Amino acid sequence: MAPSFPTKPALAGVAALILVTAGVWFPFAAPSQDAGGSFDHDTTGWFRGNTHTHSLWSDGNDFPEMIVGWYRDQGYDFIALSDHNILATTEKWMDVEAIAKRQRAIGRTAMQKYQAQYASKPGWIETRDNGGKTEVRLKRIDEYRPLFEKEGEFLVVQAEEITSSSGEGKPVHINAVNLPGDELIPAVKKEEGLSGEVAMRTIFQRVDAHEKKTGTPILAHLNHPNFQWALTAEEMARVAEGRAFEVYNGHPGVNHLGDATRPGDERIWDIANTIRLAELGYPPLLGVATDDSHTYHGGDVSPGRGWVVVGSEKLTGDALIEAMKAGRFYASTGVYLDRITWDAASRTLTVKIRPDGDATFRTAFIGTRQDYDATQPAGKNGIGEVFAEIEGLTARFTMPADALYLRATITASARHTNPSYPEQKKQAWTQVVVGKE
Ligand SMILES: [Zn+2]
Ligand SMILES: [Zn+2]
Repeated sequence: MAPSFPTKPALAGVAALILVTAGVWFPFAAPSQDAGGSFDHDTTGWFRGNTHTHSLWSDGNDFPEMIVGWYRDQGYDFIALSDHNILATTEKWMDVEAIAKRQRAIGRTAMQKYQAQYASKPGWIETRDNGGKTEVRLKRIDEYRPLFEKEGEFLVVQAEEITSSSGEGKPVHINAVNLPGDELIPAVKKEEGLSGEVAMRTIFQRVDAHEKKTGTPILAHLNHPNFQWALTAEEMARVAEGRAFEVYNGHPGVNHLGDATRPGDERIWDIANTIRLAELGYPPLLGVATDDSHTYHGGDVSPGRGWVVVGSEKLTGDALIEAMKAGRFYASTGVYLDRITWDAASRTLTVKIRPDGDATFRTAFIGTRQDYDATQPAGKNGIGEVFAEIEGLTARFTMPADALYLRATITASARHTNPSYPEQKKQAWTQVVVGKE
């Protein structure tokens, strides 16, 4: 498919914005939760998981079984290990010394911890001598899955971080989650000389093609757009094929909060969605939160920081991805929701927050008006205007008649238990509702 892309510079003099419906090619199913109609989700039984994790299969510093076991023991329902441009489907041996070099020297090495953990399973760990070096074989996903998976309780989802580079050498990383079989989706190489935007579009198209070919639902989410300041909200807006991105990534090096002149990830979401809805007629981007964990022995790129909670009927990869594509999930760094309700008739969004000790909660209802003023990015009538802030365990807000979309960010008074930046509080983000169909 080759959709036509308006090339109008984003946000420049956009006064006449209400041309969304007339004649704009709209390539996808309805964008918002459950096709835009009302919904009333009891989220208490939803599945919690992380879709972005690294292991020794690429640049993480622990064995896949150790990582998967950690997530299971922390109460996650599913985990996707998403190594860079590789699937755990081949025979891979690693030098034990090289593994030790990847971690900070605290206590036992990754290998020693691995040996201790699997001491009761003789023969599980395979080593060999290769010219005087001791090597260990990394387990394939088909080998470690059965150790952890339990129907309805815990699931391992296969994923890849498709790790591309623009011609300028900027990272364009997209996770493909729920990959079937052993076929990788190839990345775009720097030598191909593509812009970040074209590289992004190319990868999303490859994921779409892979999904069609295999008949398996795959979620592609763009990762950490601010990592090395690689991708802008405007570029993300113009890629119609993009459906999801990381509104939070737990890696401390991804410029999550932006800087003095560049927007953070949450604001990127509002800018991109405003352009998509107001100018391009594209569906809004879904927001995921992830760990992007690499270090498991005390380093600062550790697990347990960001996740999604998904309203799937079954705990299978296909069902989880279908639910996420329908927007039936929220992103979290520690705030849990008991209910999310959208009444399309009255255009009212309600969130019911799960109590957490003596923490208090503030819910910001955020959106952009149709006649927004792009020169006033933070203020009234700007992009991502905070329409209302409501304290308490239940927060309800009626979408203004002239709003393009509405979403809610819930922030706790409680600190994050494993922060990726100073003073980080526990948060949750609902998906965007557009309020018309
Ligand atoms: Zn990445
Ligand atoms: Zn990553």
